[in-house]
Amino acid sequence: MHKVELEAKAKVNLTLDVLYKRPDGYHQVEMIMQAISLKDHLVISLLPGREIKIVSNSPAIPGGEENLAFKAAKLMVDEFDLDAGVEIKIFKEIPVAAGLAGGSADAAAVLKGLNELFGLGLTTKDLMRFGEKLGADVPFCVMGGTALARGKGEELTPLPAVPPASLVLIKPPFSVSSREVYNRLNINSIRKRPVTRAVIESIEKGDLEGISRGLCNVLEEVTFAKHPELPGIKEMLKARGALGSLMSGSGPAVYGIFETRHDAEKAAASLSLPGCEIFISCMG
Ligand code: ATP
Repeated sequence: MHKVELEAKAKVNLTLDVLYKRPDGYHQVEMIMQAISLKDHLVISLLPGREIKIVSNSPAIPGGEENLAFKAAKLMVDEFDLDAGVEIKIFKEIPVAAGLAGGSADAAAVLKGLNELFGLGLTTKDLMRFGEKLGADVPFCVMGGTALARGKGEELTPLPAVPPASLVLIKPPFSVSSREVYNRLNINSIRKRPVTRAVIESIEKGDLEGISRGLCNVLEEVTFAKHPELPGIKEMLKARGALGSLMSGSGPAVYGIFETRHDAEKAAASLSLPGCEIFISCMG
């Protein structure tokens, strides 16, 4: 085998809570993560020599060793002393620095791709452990589906699949630095926290309305303070029939949940948001 093709799915947060700042400087989080159908496409092929080459259609991501896909490949090459070079082509569809874990999704796809390409025989659990070295969201991106994430985000408990639903996902014309948002969060003054247990119960019951009612992300306060147009976008989605609406991760991507693709498309068509990218995606 000389080439593998992979899909790298984005994620949204159904909940995001920050419990406390840990002595090691990381934030202890509790969040429900959901993989969605919006994805990047990767093609990994063998090259002579030992070069790791990144090729992408997106000017918004680093081309060299700063790319998370490069870091994932380097980790595998070093760990298994792989005597080969690889070219990683990334066809980016997931908006960059939007709270959708695009970089982590690409890194997870590279771990899976090299496992396949070199016949390493690693399990999903093994790949998740490697993923942890690359970033807190990478293990979830390896696993996919729906999960409760604790710790830095890497301690995962799988949850049942959510009922099928469509999303209208809005990416405003600016990016947000996750690090900056976490740094600006004042944990002692968080006004509204998710009731994570209740959302898990709704997921277990397959209750889409319950899930939508429970959507909550403590980072909204921080990102909304800097970008006051974001709560307005959430309201627009709700006014057009979204069962619930939330910012994903540290933002700025905001989504609304709709029961059917038809409802989502109708809502999206009626939105007028100059400069924003609008995606229809699905979960479950
Ligand atoms: P995070 O919460 O980790 O910041 P995010 O989902 O908000 O993630 P990403 O799209 O992963 O955002 O981008 C975060 C940063 O990672 C950007 O500054 C981007 O340049 C960098 N990056 C490195 N490699 C990639 C990649 N393959 N795809 C997207 N971004 C990448």
